[in-house]
Amino acid sequence: MTSFVLDAIVPEFVRQFKAYVPSRPDPELMALYGVSRLHRLNNNENPLGPPAAAQEVLRRFPPPLGAVYPSGDSFYLRRRLGERLGVDPDQILFGNGANETIGLVLKAFCREGDNIVTADRTFAVYEWTARFSGVEVRLVPLRDGRFDVEGMLARIDERTKVVFVCNPNNPTGTYWDRATLLDFLARVDGRTIVVLDEAYAEFVESPDYPEGISLLPEHPNLVVFRTFSKMWGLAGLRIGYLIGERNLVDTVRRTCIVYSVNIVAQEAALAALDDPEHVPATRALVRGEKAYLLSELGAMSLPTASGEGNFVMVELPISDTLAYRKLMREGVMIRAMTDFRFPGWIRVSIGCHDAMEDFVAALRRTLE
Ligand SMILES: *Cc1c(COP(=O)(O)O)cnc(C)c1O
Repeated sequence: MTSFVLDAIVPEFVRQFKAYVPSRPDPELMALYGVSRLHRLNNNENPLGPPAAAQEVLRRFPPPLGAVYPSGDSFYLRRRLGERLGVDPDQILFGNGANETIGLVLKAFCREGDNIVTADRTFAVYEWTARFSGVEVRLVPLRDGRFDVEGMLARIDERTKVVFVCNPNNPTGTYWDRATLLDFLARVDGRTIVVLDEAYAEFVESPDYPEGISLLPEHPNLVVFRTFSKMWGLAGLRIGYLIGERNLVDTVRRTCIVYSVNIVAQEAALAALDDPEHVPATRALVRGEKAYLLSELGAMSLPTASGEGNFVMVELPISDTLAYRKLMREGVMIRAMTDFRFPGWIRVSIGCHDAMEDFVAALRRTLE
């Protein structure tokens, strides 16, 4: 037998990394918890599903095309999206979900000894991807639930390559308004890349919310992430993108092997963009059900944290991981937040009315 010492070849930063454990498929969980239906309120998915036009693409997809490689640079989709957003298609880079683009940006700009700056309680994938890539992570505590401008500026140094700002923030729903973002960008003054993760931009109702794309001409160090997973209901197809100044995007593109975005995802996303009813329908549903959920939680005297986005956080008088198991036995899956530095809190995605009612009833029984 070949003698082989695996640990000897594994970099320290990979050995140290605690692997993310994906949750098991729904049928396994339903058997485990003994339920015959399960409301998925853990991943901020769109309860309406993909837009009707995208559903039609999925129904009509020609099976023989499954044998054919997709466009390596999402050609038609970039062209259509570029028109819609008023940017050059070459400023857009698609990935296998926005999650893939996080890794591409780090690969393009970071080497050992470099660091990234982000918040301690935000979307965890920035931190995870940096850690298992050997990049130092500087986490700045949220201030009043928000990304802290002063705190983040204080941690930026000459080895800071990327600052990640989740706007609006998952899971707190807070956001930087236009003045705050412009102030931050002015004070960063081009010393580092600033990523604005706008995964929930399409849900935002506040008029002073700044769309990063409008700031690109003035800020060549800005990168905007968007995804088809949330508003567009295509999480299962894995498609997201980044937008930036052309030379910056050309640089990031070097770290990207083509074909990570499949043919079905490209076609469904293209159709989704032309559906006029989906976004208003989703926004109306989220607005109404969020108001319902917050009033029910208020009636239960539970502290909540919510703002923009299709999710709400709730603080419970019991452990969040215990609440997760109890709610699963009631057929409701939520996100326990201990692993995201919010012990005692859960995050609930906004679903259809029956799911919200079932969640509220299940939570009442859980806390009895
Ligand atoms: C869901 C989410 C993403 C990732 O989306 P994918 O395109 O599905 O990889 C990125 N950022 C935030 C803040 C998210 O909540």
